[in-house]
Amino acid sequence: MASIHILADGYSRILEGKMEANCSCVLVKGEDNIIVDTMTAWDGHYILQALRKCNLTTDDINWVVCTHGHSDHTGNNNLFLKAKHIVGFSLNQKNVFLETELLKGNEFVINKHVRVLPTPGHTLTDVSVLVTTPDKNIVAISGDLFEKEEDINDPSIWREIAGSEAPELQIINRSKIAEIASFIIPGHGPYFKVTDEMRSKLKEQLTPPCEQCSTSPDVKLPEKSAGEYPQKDIETIAV
Ligand SMILES: [Zn+2]
Repeated sequence: MASIHILADGYSRILEGKMEANCSCVLVKGEDNIIVDTMTAWDGHYILQALRKCNLTTDDINWVVCTHGHSDHTGNNNLFLKAKHIVGFSLNQKNVFLETELLKGNEFVINKHVRVLPTPGHTLTDVSVLVTTPDKNIVAISGDLFEKEEDINDPSIWREIAGSEAPELQIINRSKIAEIASFIIPGHGPYFKVTDEMRSKLKEQLTPPCEQCSTSPDVKLPEKSAGEYPQKDIETIAV
């Protein structure tokens, strides 16, 4: 069995013309202890504190998975020196790099509850972590495949504000993940339940030409972005 603990809700916002962002940092506790995305290099202290609240030390972490290589998702990998590190499609421990099926477009299985799926789009080597709960629901820790819940209604958030290296792939992978997941923990927002309405909206966006997907010149972040650190207590997804 695996339990999911959100150590930090990610956020992104534009303040006085400058982009501020940090990623969702998630602990999957169970047969393996896995940290997904390690925030910016300035957040080590915060992560250590959050782990202590979950009765773990850095040495208890077996796997680090960074959904992609951007610096707000990889900043504290070096806290976890007993772990294997997956960053995008690559897997290493110390200076040894191991082959994975991710490069061939296949999933990489960590254990029977947790697998890593290639979901390129935001970058060409993005991955999502899928956790199967005891009642067979799937929680997707998606990195920036989904920037935040609001980007389903307003694709300019993921396409233009967050940026996408391969929007055509990202559209497909967004729909694919929404089809299988009951909950999504996005890269820069609180987790949300996936509804059928969201699934159909994402499916509609698969079909070009799509007005919503066309470039809009005046892109603004929604006023209400996620919160600031220090955050509320660690949230555990109960499903
Ligand atoms: Zn990000």
